[in-house]
Amino acid sequence: MTNNEIARRLATQWLVYPTGLPLIRRRCLSCTSAQYRAHGKFRVNANRKLLDVWLLALCVGCGETIKLTVLERVHVRAIDPSTLNRFHDNDVELAAKLLGDPGLLRRNSVTLDWDGAWALQKPTVDVSEAEVIDTSVRFAQRIPIRLTTLLSVGLDVSRAEVQRLVADGALSSTHRLTGKSSGDFSFSLRR
Ligand SMILES: [Zn+2]
Repeated sequence: MTNNEIARRLATQWLVYPTGLPLIRRRCLSCTSAQYRAHGKFRVNANRKLLDVWLLALCVGCGETIKLTVLERVHVRAIDPSTLNRFHDNDVELAAKLLGDPGLLRRNSVTLDWDGAWALQKPTVDVSEAEVIDTSVRFAQRIPIRLTTLLSVGLDVSRAEVQRLVADGALSSTHRLTGKSSGDFSFSLRR
């Protein structure tokens, strides 16, 4: 590789981060909506020394509340006191962290909708002279999003253009660039 080639190859990094809590998908029994929104509210119920903890979510259509089980009949001494305080304080960050737990989602038979609840942080580098841009994409937390959408936002082109670049081989990766993913990956764009 000549110096000139090195100079025309640029490395950059994107960060996918949450801007809010994702929507929770479940059919409402009272209205036609299938989306609930959590606001970081918890309910803690104590029965002697055993605690139940739920994360509450409201139907976006009618406001009906559902409870997602966080802890079930757990001895109070088995819970870290600072975590217990965060449940009582209705800690939004804790709610976000719990919603990132696939086990909790599975146990409650819900899936998440991250549309509009994430953003992309990109460094301000001048890429106009670069012939090849190597980008590593990091997820601040587990945010499954469609990769064509992510690339279209990041590259500021349409999703159809992303698909064309992949088909042409101009946009390449060792990672599959279709479907949803929440794992760190990198790709190269040749211009
Ligand atoms: Zn409803």
